[in-house]
Amino acid sequence: MASFTLHGIPVSRGIAIGRAHLLAAAALDVKHYLVAEEHLEAEVQRLQQALVAVHKELQTLWLDLPKDAPTELGAFIDVHALILSDPMISEAPLDIIRTRHYNAEWALLTQIDELSAQFDEIEDPYLRERKADIQQVAERVLKVLMGSAQPLAAVGDGEYQAQMIVVAHDISPADMLQFRDRSFIGFVTDVGGQNSHTAIVARSLDIPAAVGMSQASTLVAQDDWIIIDGDAGVVIVNPSALVLEQYRERQNALQRARKKLNKLKKTPAVTKDGTPITLLANIELPDDCAAAMEAGANGVGLFRSEFLFMGRNSRIPSEDEQFEQYKRAVVAMKGRPVTIRTLDIGADKPLDQTEHTALNPALGLRAIRYCLAEPQLFLAQLRAILRASAFGKVRILIPMLAHAFEIDQSLAMIAQAKAELREEGVKFDETVQVGAMIEIPAAALALPMFVKRMDFLSIGTNDLIQYTLAIDRVDYEVAHLYNPLHPAVLQLIAMTIAAGHKAGIDVAVCGEMAGDVKLTRLLLGMGLREFSMHPAQLLSVKQEILNSDLARLAPQTRKIMRSMEPDAIADAVQQLQLM
Ligand code: PEP
Ligand code: MG
Repeated sequence: MASFTLHGIPVSRGIAIGRAHLLAAAALDVKHYLVAEEHLEAEVQRLQQALVAVHKELQTLWLDLPKDAPTELGAFIDVHALILSDPMISEAPLDIIRTRHYNAEWALLTQIDELSAQFDEIEDPYLRERKADIQQVAERVLKVLMGSAQPLAAVGDGEYQAQMIVVAHDISPADMLQFRDRSFIGFVTDVGGQNSHTAIVARSLDIPAAVGMSQASTLVAQDDWIIIDGDAGVVIVNPSALVLEQYRERQNALQRARKKLNKLKKTPAVTKDGTPITLLANIELPDDCAAAMEAGANGVGLFRSEFLFMGRNSRIPSEDEQFEQYKRAVVAMKGRPVTIRTLDIGADKPLDQTEHTALNPALGLRAIRYCLAEPQLFLAQLRAILRASAFGKVRILIPMLAHAFEIDQSLAMIAQAKAELREEGVKFDETVQVGAMIEIPAAALALPMFVKRMDFLSIGTNDLIQYTLAIDRVDYEVAHLYNPLHPAVLQLIAMTIAAGHKAGIDVAVCGEMAGDVKLTRLLLGMGLREFSMHPAQLLSVKQEILNSDLARLAPQTRKIMRSMEPDAIADAVQQLQLM
């Protein structure tokens, strides 16, 4: 097998070594998990039963055909019944379950994808058309599988260990959540940028990933061996034994370093000169609180609540459902503050796959704009968050604010939610703090408007960079322009930190810059005292803080802030690391 290397954008650290699992777009809607050895036959039976059920369904359809129905209709049903009985559908997917341990839905779709590819090559247009019939039959089986039968338990610790690396043209953040299974150890996509939400989810899953790989999904074959070097953004396909050995050694060294870091879990984050720093966690779902607690986070600085809304075919979670989830997070954090950001839907976080997006989604009806346009939905979320505040310390964070009237309307909606709950006798924290994301340059340039109305600020550097530099954070063709150290970006961040301090309100950074150890000292020097990041990054950042001396960093940082030369800034930031 030929070995080759692909270069892309590093988005998530570490090294992954595993087999390629090519993900076809059609396969995204079903759950993917590996079935434990002892459940394999039951999983095979689950698929067999679904096949029998569809047979019966087709028979009933045939019998119920009206007498005057066109003859083609009966013929179509016959063709579907024939397809269903063909070993390519009735047997091949069963083998996939037995040999690859895929769950039934995944096994069926894998087989359908392989068949579809073969059909694409057929020249006879009539036969080529039969691909659609096969897909329709598969859909019927999937419906039965997903509707009735209970999926079996996924593989547990120490069981079947086929480690897979997902290779796809693109994976949406919601789809990525389908792969929260220990068997998936890495992601490679053709498209995407450093701070696309797909990359962010990979970081939060603490899985090595590389995006912007251009042709990866066409060059890599199913089951190829792959190494992802997450730090370098390099993917090595079918590596030689020597290369594999070297990477295994690096992987072991990384694991050892990680173990060492774990010793810092209980150490307070204090700089050498005694300044305490608050380290918070970014989470997507309440389950992530376990990792936040494990890393010793002081609380949650960003709960991206939109992940509760995604991948549900546009079915919005009810107020009660949301309340249960927020409460779970609040209880899990055991009294530490949980900052729940209100729905930040839109752009690269659509509510569902099929949603038609605007021409310029990042500039469109997203986040608070969407919420204010859908007041009932917004009110339900605010009520749910407030109800959760009766169970611990909750803060509300509003994304994408730029206008005073948006702040005022948001606050009015919160007041309305509170008034309703009060009237209904439902408990909540009357003093719940409300903060603004500073992630649009206009906000950073109009800070008095914010500090006057808000209890705290949180800088969303991912969007702040996107909007300041006018580059789409998910477009890999402009990814090289995405520079957190651009002097304009640094000025906006510094201005926000200073304005917050002057007004006596807390300022955090919750964008990806907060978790980048290469930038920890710069941000400390700029006066930042609250960092919010993925739990996996927290201990490395803490280590950097423990080794930092603010008295020495501050004058150097002031010098950096006076510079407008990108190379000089980059050099000086590197120098900070050595201080
Ligand atoms: C940001 O923009 O920096 C941020 C934290 O929010 P998100 O990445 O979810 O847009
Ligand atoms: Mg943002």
